[in-house]
Amino acid sequence: MNLYDLLSSRFPADRSKPAFLLSDGSAVSYGELEDDVARTASLLVEYEVEPGDRVALQSEKSVAAVAVYLATLKVGAVFLPLNTAYTEAEVDYFLEDAEPVLFVEDAQALVADARTRPPLVETLAMDDDDLASIIYTSGTTGRSKGAMLSHGNLAANAQALHQIWGFTSDDVLLHALPIFHVHGLFVGLHCAFLSGAPMVWLPKFDDAQVLDGLSKATVMMGVPTFYTRLLANPGFTQERASHMRLFISGSAPLLESTFAEFEARTGKRILERYGMSEAVIITSNPLDGERIAGSVGYPLPGVDLRVAGGETGTIEIKGPSVFAAYWRMPEKTTEEFTADGYFITGDVGRQDPDGRVWISGRAKDLIISGGFNVYPKEIELIFDELPGVSESAVIGVPHPDFGEAVVAVVIGQGDEAAMIAQARTQLAAFKAPKRVFFVDELPRNAMGKVQKNLLRERYAETFA
Ligand code: AMP
Repeated sequence: MNLYDLLSSRFPADRSKPAFLLSDGSAVSYGELEDDVARTASLLVEYEVEPGDRVALQSEKSVAAVAVYLATLKVGAVFLPLNTAYTEAEVDYFLEDAEPVLFVEDAQALVADARTRPPLVETLAMDDDDLASIIYTSGTTGRSKGAMLSHGNLAANAQALHQIWGFTSDDVLLHALPIFHVHGLFVGLHCAFLSGAPMVWLPKFDDAQVLDGLSKATVMMGVPTFYTRLLANPGFTQERASHMRLFISGSAPLLESTFAEFEARTGKRILERYGMSEAVIITSNPLDGERIAGSVGYPLPGVDLRVAGGETGTIEIKGPSVFAAYWRMPEKTTEEFTADGYFITGDVGRQDPDGRVWISGRAKDLIISGGFNVYPKEIELIFDELPGVSESAVIGVPHPDFGEAVVAVVIGQGDEAAMIAQARTQLAAFKAPKRVFFVDELPRNAMGKVQKNLLRERYAETFA
């Protein structure tokens, strides 16, 4: 089945119902969206976009950009979203690698043009394995890889999330995420579409607009920085949040302090889930049942998750939403799957006997100091608790004696020697940082992930 058939089969019977509630007070109905999709699909056919061809899009977040995405699915082509922050040189790499037949830089203009075309009625039937989208990983080391997601991958994940998070047509989703990443593009849009529910549609996270939007919403999806920004705003009160059914967080680790502060402020517990470009969502805390700070919850229905190499080790997964291969990188694909078909996520974590998963970081962020393994999270958890510290990032940098030395970069203020001494009272001496640096901000990507590769570069000469 074509993913677009699945999504549109759940659009409300009354197509005059809103799909997008815009910040200027206007709305775009499901009927208008469907019509834009059908006419844009006509235009794609006119541009000779064939099934399997790639359609790249680097355009501001808009309803038109969503219509281009859905039209691409409808004609059986492959959607390739590109981060709006990418430079021309970066975009060149993606265009050369993916060879799209069409590169859309202005979705509004394309859809405006399409409105003069007749609607394309037919949606191309697809097999589950047929490619729907290529999502390039953020690629902090080496070349960015294109994760190939099929119609079956995306449909399976969308249906699982819609069910476990209890979405209904009474929901209103606050959507302030970018749509060039799986979180805003697949997780957000698909949950809303499968419910035939409206979205409060915000171009980006803007404090005032989000506070206002919350009054109309029932569910919010965000990255952890959305929640820290909300909490930093005195206008975000228990009353503001009182009618909200669900706050979901993912794409980067949610600090335990954020979870606790959020609960203290609103009386509600953020539901944290874990996912990645190669598999969309993998685990989630329960809707009914305990949501625990620092844990990403349980594998989704149908997801087979295991921890390789000891109690804490690399997380490997198999399941209906796990991608089949990286675009034109057969060797990378082989390297990142086990012989028995599990994808090696690159995340390190552990699993309780009842299945609950805890992530301790990326395998490539593991520090090996004097031959001992140091998991940055162990130290981060201690520092994050200290007064004056709002967040910490622990990295390994080259050291002449130890190979790597542990270094902490901390947002806030404190006494370096006292912090190192504190770590030594709670952890084995080899895990205690050799240096602590204080900063105002940590480098982050668009999804709020701390870019440890940049920190490693910045502090590379510390012990030189
Ligand atoms: P991306 O493919 O850009 O979405 O990045 C996926 C990576 O983000 C995962 O492999 C994890 O390292 C990280 N990630 C996503 N969600 C979480 C979470 N809830 N807690 C910790 N790390 C997360």
